[in-house]
Amino acid sequence: MSSIWFLTGSQFLYGEDALAQVDANSREIAAVLSNAGLFADVVWKPVLTSKEAIVRTMVAANSDDECIGVIAWMHTFSPAKMWISGLDALAKPLLHLHTQANVELPWATIDMDFMNLNQAAHGDREFGYIEARLGVAHSIVVGHVSNPRVCREIDVWMRAAAGIACLRGLNLVRFGDNMRNVAVTEGDKTEAEHVFGTSVNTWGVNDLADVVATVSDAEAEALAGLYEADYDVAPELRKGGDRHGSLVYAAKQEIALRGFLEARDAKAFTTNFEDLGALTQLPGLAVQRLTADGFGFGAEGDWKTAMLVRAAKVMGQGLAGGASLMEDYTYHLVDGQEKILGAHMLEVCPSLTSKTPRVEIHPLGIGDRGDPVRFVFDVDPGPAVVVGLSDMRDRFRLTGNTVKVVGPDAAMPKLPVGRAVWVPDPDLYTSAACWLASGASHHTVMSTALTADHWREFARLLGTEFALITKDTTRDGFDDRLRWNAAYYRLARGI
Ligand code: MN
Repeated sequence: MSSIWFLTGSQFLYGEDALAQVDANSREIAAVLSNAGLFADVVWKPVLTSKEAIVRTMVAANSDDECIGVIAWMHTFSPAKMWISGLDALAKPLLHLHTQANVELPWATIDMDFMNLNQAAHGDREFGYIEARLGVAHSIVVGHVSNPRVCREIDVWMRAAAGIACLRGLNLVRFGDNMRNVAVTEGDKTEAEHVFGTSVNTWGVNDLADVVATVSDAEAEALAGLYEADYDVAPELRKGGDRHGSLVYAAKQEIALRGFLEARDAKAFTTNFEDLGALTQLPGLAVQRLTADGFGFGAEGDWKTAMLVRAAKVMGQGLAGGASLMEDYTYHLVDGQEKILGAHMLEVCPSLTSKTPRVEIHPLGIGDRGDPVRFVFDVDPGPAVVVGLSDMRDRFRLTGNTVKVVGPDAAMPKLPVGRAVWVPDPDLYTSAACWLASGASHHTVMSTALTADHWREFARLLGTEFALITKDTTRDGFDDRLRWNAAYYRLARGI
């Protein structure tokens, strides 16, 4: 279980009695958060009143494997020069919670003792100054913890912090390289390890094919039997059906892939249909099953999208909905009904549907291998967010779009893949123009569990550019934002 450390700032100026009250109040606030059903455990830490204690606490937070971030609150005035070394040392996400112990002002009884004790309104401004001056990446939540909106915002920050923690420790396996000649799936893997902490490395696809060859028929038949029990499997693929062998082969791919990744402590991977070595099918069902279990995945060697899918899986844990590789494929451009049909060759994750997916086999129409087995389903209607990561040469840019999945206008019986039909905010024309202007990828992660808020905090805490297209976006405003971002992120990196 992930944890968050709850830090309270004060100083010795007020005397022992006041500090005892600060201690009691901060325990109460931490307890409210602990019992609010938030994503991570909230661990209360003793009130901080000296530079030395602050540094020690931050260094301890860095080295605690379970700690994914710290919340700081200045109950009283905590002179912020005390915090400089500690904030410099902190290497985990920071949330500045601007709250106070009381909700109401005690109008009739308020005196200077109360004022001195409950002065987050200016103590937190002192802290905000030093955060801003040092340029520490951090999120801010304002309000009393009894307000459900405050807890929701803290939960969003926790999930963003968890996404960052998962990428920091992520091993990503690529089977082969990118699809030949494709630009946007390229990127600086060394820089990615610096910015995100993710280790991106390549194996020969035949290393995987060798493992597939070692999977026994009995083991694969057992898994294929599980498919038949859990999914709506096409009759030709069922035991005794003409093409059952293809289902068994898909099961071998799943067993081999899972074992290969687990042996390398890897939670994300890529494949490339151009580079399948001795594999006789492009992995479809296997990828879909693994992503449903939380693995990140990108197709055509797209390791950046694989990272995002893995982060989305971790950030969305316990929420309704899911996350998947998605690809903007084709449009419905009828006036007033414009929408996007997204899908992929095979690998869309069934966490995006609440229905039982069908398992079918069809020709791929691309590449040179046997017909692959895949899940076929429609993504559930409802709000969603799509996010893509581009390497802009001097930085990574995350582009996002809030969308509404609406489902198809009519059945699509000849399109046997996982597919989604959505209307992007603010409308297809503005969305697509902004997306193109941003140089954002055709591969995205679509999440029906997360909102744009999760990705905004994720990007904020990483110091990564985030260009978000929402219902309020205009072309002019978005273009300005890209220009300003270009200047800012180049300057912010220094020489
Ligand atoms: Mn693709």
